Amino acid sequence: MLRARTAGLAVAAVAVLGGCQRPPGPARASHAREIMGTLAEVTAVAADRMTADAAVAAGYARLEDVNRLMSDYVADSEVGRLNSLPAGTPIAVSPETLHCLQRALEICRASGGTFDATCRPLVRLWKQAAAEGRLPSADELRQARALVGPDRIAIDAERRCVWRVADGVQVDLGGIAKGYALDLAAEAMRGAGASGALVNVGGDVRAVGRDADGRPWQVGVKHPFQDGLFAVLSLTDRAVATSGVQQRFYEIGGRRYSHIIDPRSGWPAEQSPSVTVIAADGLTADAWATAFSVLSVEEGRGLIEAGGAPGVEVLWISGSAEEPVADMTPGFAGYLAE
Ligand code: ADP
Ligand code: MG
Repeated sequence: MLRARTAGLAVAAVAVLGGCQRPPGPARASHAREIMGTLAEVTAVAADRMTADAAVAAGYARLEDVNRLMSDYVADSEVGRLNSLPAGTPIAVSPETLHCLQRALEICRASGGTFDATCRPLVRLWKQAAAEGRLPSADELRQARALVGPDRIAIDAERRCVWRVADGVQVDLGGIAKGYALDLAAEAMRGAGASGALVNVGGDVRAVGRDADGRPWQVGVKHPFQDGLFAVLSLTDRAVATSGVQQRFYEIGGRRYSHIIDPRSGWPAEQSPSVTVIAADGLTADAWATAFSVLSVEEGRGLIEAGGAPGVEVLWISGSAEEPVADMTPGFAGYLAE
């Protein structure tokens, strides 16, 4: 399966393999819907159809919650308000937003600042410059970088309050919230009686229990250089997220610049075209997939070997369409389907 051929760029990262005709067994319900600016697909396996339907509804309700609380496109979301209130003004946030911010700051520190949820000033600068068909100036980059860093956000966990330490600081949970949404949906679906669940938000997937045939869920990793799959994963109680420096990009002067920014330099990441991370939960997989897109394969490997990302398995696909190169952590190979 780990074979490579030629050209073409995949847009979404992970595809869930379709089901087929099954003999009677547990009930399965599945719905696809647009949410969080992308396509979500929620599948539940339960003893009967009513329970499966209820689990799907419970899963969607949690995806909606994350969108409502954490989207920076929703002006009155908690993150939207955090970004617009004067610096130093604490705002009370939900336990969900608090947890996501706390984990984001932890992973920021563990990843040497390569995953940084305060990178929004840089993301916005590059977006604006690209819209104007130019590169940001050294001055603009310096100003934006001064607003980025985990110490630019203050958290009072006891009072469940957060605030920005300076005006201009901006939080962007775009690299972690999708993964966290998978976790909240999965938990709600279990609570609603699902024995198995598959939640897919824009190609990031969390697999709970087993599919309706009692087998591990089969999840495809899209090929970064051509149509079709690069690998198939066999997952039970695991999450998988893929990030790619070429998957969403700006074009300036005929050159492509990734939507993932290296907060260390302020410039778009230039590392592996595709990084796929497997972890026990979606938040961890999503955030680390972004971090490993910033880090080189060597830096990423070094970090893992030093124990810097426990429980995280990585597949890097680099090279070119003509000659793709796959690297993976030893544990990742254990998830490849036969
Ligand atoms: P995708 O949204 O394509 O699945 P990611 O999970 O990697 O990809 O998230 C990318 C988004 O995260 C960007 O669109 C931006 O909002 C934000 N972002 C960009 N660079 C970083 C970074 N270094 N750390 C954290 N978030 C980032
Ligand atoms: Mg991510």
